[in-house]
Order: sequence, then C-alpha cells, then structure tokens
Amino acid sequence: MAGLYIHIPFCERKCSYCAFYSFSGPWKNEEKFFQALEMEVGNLKSLYPDFLPETVFIGGGTPTAPGLDCLEKYFPMFGEFSPAEFSVEANPGTIDRQKLDLLKRTGVNRLSIGVQSFDSSCLETLGRIHSAAQAEEAFRLARAAGFENISLDLMFGVPGQTMEMLNADIDRALALGPEHISIYNLTVEEGTPLADRNPEKPDEELERDMYDQIRAKLKAAGFAHYEISNFARPGLECRHNLLYWSGGEYIGCGPAAHSHWKGVRWANVSDLDDYCGNGPRREFEEKLDPEAKARETLVMGLRRLTGVEVSPDVWKKQQAVLQWLEEEGLLEIDGHHVRLTESALFVSDSVFSELV
Ligand code: SF4
Repeated sequence: MAGLYIHIPFCERKCSYCAFYSFSGPWKNEEKFFQALEMEVGNLKSLYPDFLPETVFIGGGTPTAPGLDCLEKYFPMFGEFSPAEFSVEANPGTIDRQKLDLLKRTGVNRLSIGVQSFDSSCLETLGRIHSAAQAEEAFRLARAAGFENISLDLMFGVPGQTMEMLNADIDRALALGPEHISIYNLTVEEGTPLADRNPEKPDEELERDMYDQIRAKLKAAGFAHYEISNFARPGLECRHNLLYWSGGEYIGCGPAAHSHWKGVRWANVSDLDDYCGNGPRREFEEKLDPEAKARETLVMGLRRLTGVEVSPDVWKKQQAVLQWLEEEGLLEIDGHHVRLTESALFVSDSVFSELV
C-alpha cells in the first residue's frame, strides 16, 4: 500500500506556534503554485508507473484557505486516484458549506478539522484565526455536507491551560461526536512568535496528568488509543498516518513535501518561488541502507500502541539497549515484538532517542 501527500503552503494568518512550511497572504503565487502542483501530480504516473496510492492526504498549510474558484479548478485532480481514504485538513476559519460540498464532490471522505482548543484564551495564545463557536459550526456544516468520518485536532500543554480547561475542551469535542481525535502536546518551536514571548508551559507533572486524563476520558468515551497522540472509533484509524508509522511508502507533492519510495527518501525544495519556477527540485535525497531503514521502522512502529516486530539484524545490534529499556520499565518485549509501556508513552521521545 502507498500514499500520496499534497502540501498546500498557504494560510490565512500564521499561528503563533507554527513552524510548518506555510505563508499567509497576499498570495501572489497562488495560481502559479497550483499550476506547478498540477504538473507535478500529472507526472506521477510516468515517473512512478507502479505508484497507486490507496490514501491521499492534503495538508499544509491550510488546504481550505484558497478561494472556492481555485479549489474548484484544481482539487478534482486529486480525486482521480480514487483513494480508499481521502483526507483533507481544514481550518474552521476557512470553510463554508460551498467548500465542503466541493470537497465531498471531489471524493474527500475524511476531514481533519484543526480546532486546537475551545477555550478563547488558549485560542488567543495560539494565534488561531477562529473562535470555539466557529469550530463547532464548522463541524456541524461538515456533517450536514455528508462527512461521516471527521477528526478533530486538539492541543494540550498550552501556556496558561489548566486541567479544568483541558477537561472542558475534551467534553466539547466529545459532544460533537467525532470519529477520531488527535491531541498533541504543544511544542514551542524556536523562531516562532510564541517562542519569542518565552511563554510558560504547564509544568511537566501537570502535563503528564493531562495526558493521563486525555487517555482516560477518550477511552471511557469508546475511543481506541492507537498511536501516542491519536484516538479513533474502532476501524476509523487514519490509514494514511498508519502508513507512515509502519515504514510504508508515500510520495509527497508540493514545496517541502517529503517522499519515501523504493528505498529512497527525498524532500522537495522548501522555496515556493523555486517550486513554482523550476518544479519539484529535490533539496534533499538519501538512499536508505537496509539497517537504517529497519531502525527507523522500529522507532516509527513504536509510536503505535500495538508495537512492532524487530527485524533480526536490528535485534542483534540493539538487543542490549532494548533490554535495558525493558528493565527501566519503558518497553515490553515479547519474543522480538516490542511496544512502549503505558508509562513510556508520555516520554516516548527520550525512548526513541536511545534507539536511533
Ligand atoms: S493553520 Fe496550521 S499550518 Fe497554518 S499557520 Fe496555523 S498551524 Fe501553521
């Protein structure tokens, strides 16, 4: 199975914490960008004849930020792959019924709405362009447009956020009845406006309690916790992201998009003008040796709560580290199958750093 990722690098306004490759208007290059993207997508069949994506994921940036005319003109090209799962990320401040109807006609069958929080002070800290009421309205509009698989993105560990605020966020999310919830611990990335303000995140103990609370509440509401930050109704896990976590193959189109295909990993140029003028030049490319690939598959696979089977080569080389992590109570090992323990989920990054 393979997946296609499309990167749309435009946003209405940059959020204060955002380190993704995206720009806020005026978008002088919007039409030029879509023409370049159309060419890149159109060339996939001849460049990679056996690339038949079963999942398409349009992210960014904000895929729903461009105007309706633009989306109407260019989005149908993605539907031509007839993927089993076709996801689009949407910002509540940039969708309306017309855009949602268009996405539905194009074949989109999974919507991921970036809510982040229903608390006005958290939304302000994060620099989001929408209110909580707009996020709820966006969800209702999406349901009315016929979307039966909707994911909500939330955050915890936001400066100023309390446990009460987090509980209220989860309750409001659950009240909408989504099929999937992603909830990430906010990372304050260097170079972002949020980092410049030097904000104080909740202390680590509170963040750990928040994470435990999220897990408990979502489990009680019938969600399966299937990846460190992701929860789904049974059978509605995000297939595209499962592909990443299982070391699968995918091709990314658009500036700064990453690909992994036939043992090669590359990234498109992270420069919109360059991309529009010269096409998808690769600014990075590496051929993965089988051992590096197996190690990476181990780390990515550990993100899934079911764990991962360790290849014999990696087992031989990493056995001592794996057993030490087991003794530390961070890994469960059964034969050559390993998974994070419950207490390791919150500190997964430090476990992974021992294994790469
Ligand atoms: S909407 Fe997403 S991509 Fe755009 S600025 Fe905000 S966090 Fe970044």
